[in-house]
Amino acid sequence: MSKDAWGYQPRNNRPAPDWDVQPQTDAVRAGLTRTGFGETSEALFLNSGFTYSSAQEAFDSFTDETDHFVYSRFHNPTVAMFEKRLAAIEGAEFCTAFSSGMAAAFASLACIVEAGDHIVACSSMFSSCHVIITEILPKWGVTYELVKANDLDGWAKALSKPTKAVFIETPSNPLLEVTDIRAVSELAHKVGATVIVDNAMASPVLQRPLELGADVVMYSATKHIDGQGRVLAGALLGSFSYIQEKLLPFIRHTGPSLSAFNAWILLKSLETMDMRVQRMNSNAQEIAEYLEGHPSIQSVRYPGLASHPDSDVIKKQMIGGGTTIGIEFKGSQKDAFKFMDSLRIIDISNNLGDSKSLITHPSSTTHRRLSAEVQAGMGITPSVLRLSVGLEDVRDLIKDLDQALTS
Ligand SMILES: *Cc1c(COP(=O)(O)O)cnc(C)c1O
Repeated sequence: MSKDAWGYQPRNNRPAPDWDVQPQTDAVRAGLTRTGFGETSEALFLNSGFTYSSAQEAFDSFTDETDHFVYSRFHNPTVAMFEKRLAAIEGAEFCTAFSSGMAAAFASLACIVEAGDHIVACSSMFSSCHVIITEILPKWGVTYELVKANDLDGWAKALSKPTKAVFIETPSNPLLEVTDIRAVSELAHKVGATVIVDNAMASPVLQRPLELGADVVMYSATKHIDGQGRVLAGALLGSFSYIQEKLLPFIRHTGPSLSAFNAWILLKSLETMDMRVQRMNSNAQEIAEYLEGHPSIQSVRYPGLASHPDSDVIKKQMIGGGTTIGIEFKGSQKDAFKFMDSLRIIDISNNLGDSKSLITHPSSTTHRRLSAEVQAGMGITPSVLRLSVGLEDVRDLIKDLDQALTS
């Protein structure tokens, strides 16, 4: 990241580094704007509005002639520090924070589409993203087509028609289907489509969609970015023309803003995100290998296993298998429930990317909003479970799984 992204303030009066620092250094320091008190950690600006020294200054602030903060629905100093820090880590020109991942997902599309426009998306998605694309936007005359994540011929066919936006979730929730970001971005750009990647499952640590050709990266920051079960948040990252010209005019008036308090928590989360995600990733790899050979398990879907159908694409675009494992259990929903109820450490919960290991039964919870037919298309059956691996000692997690599988 360039030194310009550093918010070093006159208080210390030291120059910013004159070399491009590593993402982990940005994760601890980028965006830091100190007040005159010279506080070590980021300050929390819990205020909705700002004052001006003159009527002229207010006028100039509203016409964006100066950098003066105006109102926390538009901008807030603590939220801005979080946005700068995440942009630096991701290598994006701009970042905008949101009150939740879904607020970011909706705005990512709503700010660019109008009646008559067409969206192409992958068929396996987080259920609320599916609802936005297949139910909400069509009410306003936006059409869509869904393509199976790894069906490149299907993507080429769908993207032979005029398309405004491509929405990809890779790896997908819950069954870890993988889309080739580079190949689909090339196809999409030929028809002028904006490529949006929901990178919540991989996190900024394990996959960098902008470097693979995507235009916009979307996060549920609730997941690995906070990753400690405290706040809901979202983010969109992309170019000046997307964020400043398309997105900001839309969200300034619709108000999905992140609270300063939550941004302050997320600033601290970013400092440890790399360490947390790397450890969760290696724990998940070990657990996936353990589960794959277990006689009570029908199949294991994990991007870090050679058995994943798209392991070639995974090697090109991810630097680890991630923190989430799809498990197809041998037996009925009743058996799957009994297994979940027998766990002593791993919690039953629908969140993921958390420091606490969590297990979910998608068809009865996170994905129940989708019809049985759509669920079946995503491979979600009553015997599928999703395990989000946390930061506990992996030996205890394997012991827990083992005793529950035996009981
Ligand atoms: C959780 C999640 C979302 C939604 O994010 P929220 O912060 O819960 O609104 C979107 N996409 C994916 C892949 C998710 O896992």
